[in-house]
Amino acid sequence: MKILVTGGAGFIGSHLAEELLHTHEVCVLDDLSTGSIENIRHLKGREGFRYFIDTVLNRALVAELIDDAELILHLAAAVGVRLIVESPVQTIETNIKGTEIVLELAARKKKAVVIFSTSEVYGKSNEEKFSESGDLVLGPTFKGRWSYAASKMIDEFLALAYYKEKKLPVTIVRLFNTVGPRQTGRYGMVVPRFVRQALTGEPITVFGDGKQTRTFTHVKDAVWAILELLECSGAVGEIFNVGGKDEISIDQLAHRVKEALQSSSPVVYVPYAEAYEEGFEDMQRRLPDLRKISKLTGYTPKYDLEDIILDVAEYQRQRLANAKWTFGGRDQ
Ligand code: UDP
Repeated sequence: MKILVTGGAGFIGSHLAEELLHTHEVCVLDDLSTGSIENIRHLKGREGFRYFIDTVLNRALVAELIDDAELILHLAAAVGVRLIVESPVQTIETNIKGTEIVLELAARKKKAVVIFSTSEVYGKSNEEKFSESGDLVLGPTFKGRWSYAASKMIDEFLALAYYKEKKLPVTIVRLFNTVGPRQTGRYGMVVPRFVRQALTGEPITVFGDGKQTRTFTHVKDAVWAILELLECSGAVGEIFNVGGKDEISIDQLAHRVKEALQSSSPVVYVPYAEAYEEGFEDMQRRLPDLRKISKLTGYTPKYDLEDIILDVAEYQRQRLANAKWTFGGRDQ
């Protein structure tokens, strides 16, 4: 099959592209805004691999690439809470316009699409586990953080509308905190930041009181789950959580990283107002209900937090070694 991966030079997109390339032709479209050419360098020149450095807002190019593809995995998006707080216009526009273009053109050519959404859409839900049919609870519009969730919710609504009205085969994947090699801390993601801080002996910065929890998934597990979904006709028109099993507080995470890497870094607490902006509202909990995807695909995460930390550390060590030569050690 010929597969177009928008955002294919990003952290998750590049892992997907790499895996798909074993059995399919893969075309990557990425503007390198948060992705990196380094993520796909090893794929260049491989049979069946093509890439275009351009934006998903380039309608003419996207039309041509969709024409040539049988399936579109749409991951191109503005990601990371820090980026969202700092560049809300870019976040909202990229996420909504990009998805509009992809869905409209895919519908015209009758090509199947997978839309990548996020666990952010669950917002401040009080449910113990977030299930696909549960309510989505966001904060007020003057708190910038929620614009990311709202933009992704519009993407989901639009995708389901295309499915219902135009019979476009669409699947929606809600990714929970996905972690692994190639993810950098530059956009605020906590595990690569903690790992890097631990490796360099800098303070490990826990935001708020650290009691907020997350459930981390190794990118290899997430990729496995997504590839399985692609094989299931029962996935069309449906939403699936893809995430991990073990909930951990950010405070505990800091100590787990410190221990796993035998680091001397102190753990410090940074108020949200300092870390992000005044009045920043965090999600207190985030644990996926995985019953739906498990039932359809047999998915169960195989990698635990220890595996994740060690894999991220290996990647960060390489980056630190390279940065010494190229960036004077400043690159995140
Ligand atoms: N966080 C932290 N220290 C950091 C970066 C993030 O304590 O250096 C916290 C952040 O406030 C949030 C959690 O870690 O509560 C996960 O943040 P991330 O940006 O990785 O993902 P989110 O789940 O917020 O999208």
